[in-house]
Amino acid sequence: MSGQEIRLEGVGVAPGIARGMVFIHHPDDEEPPKRRIDDFEIPGEIGRFETALIATRAQILEMQQRIAEAIGAKDASIFDAHLLVVEDRTLIDEVLRTLERDKFNIEFIFAQVANRYAHTLSQIDDPYLRERAFDIHDVTRRVIRNLLGQTGQSLTHLDSPQVVVAHNLTPSDTAMLNRQMVLGFATDIGSRTSHTAIMARSLNIPAVVGLKDASTRLKPGDHVLLDGTNGYLFVNPTDQTLWEYGEVEVRLEQVEEVLTGLRDTESTTADGRHVILSANIELPEDVELVKGAGAEGIGLYRTEFFFLNKNELPDEQEQYRVYRQVAEAIYPQSVIIRTLDLGGDKFLSHAHLPAEINPFLGCRAIRFCLDRPDIFKAQLRAILRASAVGNVRMMYPMISGLPELRQANEVLDACRQELRAEGVTFDENLEVGIMIEVPSAALAADALAKEVEFFSIGTNDLIQYTIAVDRVNERIAHLYEPTHPAIVRLIELTVQAAHSNGIWVGVCGEMAGEISLTPLLVGLGVDELSASPGLVPRVKKAVQTLSTKECLRLVEDIRSLNSASEILKRCEDVARRHYAELLS
Ligand code: PEP
Ligand code: MG
Repeated sequence: MSGQEIRLEGVGVAPGIARGMVFIHHPDDEEPPKRRIDDFEIPGEIGRFETALIATRAQILEMQQRIAEAIGAKDASIFDAHLLVVEDRTLIDEVLRTLERDKFNIEFIFAQVANRYAHTLSQIDDPYLRERAFDIHDVTRRVIRNLLGQTGQSLTHLDSPQVVVAHNLTPSDTAMLNRQMVLGFATDIGSRTSHTAIMARSLNIPAVVGLKDASTRLKPGDHVLLDGTNGYLFVNPTDQTLWEYGEVEVRLEQVEEVLTGLRDTESTTADGRHVILSANIELPEDVELVKGAGAEGIGLYRTEFFFLNKNELPDEQEQYRVYRQVAEAIYPQSVIIRTLDLGGDKFLSHAHLPAEINPFLGCRAIRFCLDRPDIFKAQLRAILRASAVGNVRMMYPMISGLPELRQANEVLDACRQELRAEGVTFDENLEVGIMIEVPSAALAADALAKEVEFFSIGTNDLIQYTIAVDRVNERIAHLYEPTHPAIVRLIELTVQAAHSNGIWVGVCGEMAGEISLTPLLVGLGVDELSASPGLVPRVKKAVQTLSTKECLRLVEDIRSLNSASEILKRCEDVARRHYAELLS
């Protein structure tokens, strides 16, 4: 996009400011973007198409040359068929005709026509023509990559720091990327509690989601400024915008300096109540972030990220090595290892999960593990073994009721017995807890509390399942309200059930890092908050400035309120009185 400054608006999901060049990420197997065009854009699209065909031809010739030198001209001749595709007049003419008739961007038109062409050839009972269909498919990908300005660079191989713009980033994409090279993320779709947004916060990478069509409007190399706090993406920022953001950055740095100074202080309210402040991690490398943030340990280790992007499931030994590494690195502080939470928006690249119509309500998390005791046992044994060397706790995700918890504990007991029989040591007193993230678990918390050692409230899912609002669907994001009276009530019920049964209760969903909601969670009596490492210093500052008395008063005040927005406003009023400088 050239020329004037344009401000695209989305939702800020990870705070901070990034400026730099754009890298457009299109997963190879994704449909090319689709955009309607006007008549006057047609000559430009034809020009882009011709340039892409020339570039593709040059790349094929170069590849052919390299292969001829390396393994001989005979093998290199397979590329003759590829060259024929870029020179195929019937195909090219049909693309141009369809472009004039349908008026969509050229990559979309080309993909449609080429796929149709390949499909027709593949149906003909002739091995030569069927081969040609494969050639067309290969060449189509290459032409589209050239049209989209992709250099074949993938997220893993970014070689200079850039702002990644994509239609969507999956948790697998995010887990794969080279963090040093990503200045910021901007996506067309997504929401605050998608696992990609959660990862961006963990990594301290500013991010904006819900930018609608940014990935098709921007070009690789465009200059942008990304404001992850307010959810803006400025394309071609003017000097004035850059200057204004420079000023904002100076202010943010001053706040950061104060926060850094709190690193070794306690997370205790102004009137002396200690609220345990932990951090969430997705990958073992994140332990360093936790220590740097001044957290008291790891309140949630999302182990499934280690399973994504693997060709095979990691076996017990491989998992043991990783859990042990985390447990040792955080020692003497503790780590709560959450057992596999696959499904929902986290899928394995190798097809171990059958497709489901409602994956968030399907065979996710503990349900998947109970269905696959082989996978579950390998993980439980690995966790138990790691408990011998560190301060390890463990929890199950998505427990919906007592029978499920008991079933999981039976598998755990079987693992304990096996290890004892094998003479392998583990912590016999390993604390086992559950996540409260399904409404039925919050409502049955009293019974569940009698059979576990702690609760950790997963508000991300608790909100999704209580309000029936998909946490990753930006179209209904307005309904995703953490201060919905029903959510407040479920948290309160859970805390009461935990305390009356003598166990502690934490919050590890994104609410724990929302400092406007810290007064509410402290007032509700939560014992632990576990947030993304990057947010921990802010939460600590919030806790330190609040008084329990005022937080309790807030909880009493909101009892009569029936709307999420009114409750949120009351929370924000308290937060603003104490730490306004952190909120903007
Ligand atoms: C939650 O649901 O709040 C939670 C912490 O788990 P996840 O975000 O990984 O689903
Ligand atoms: Mg969850």
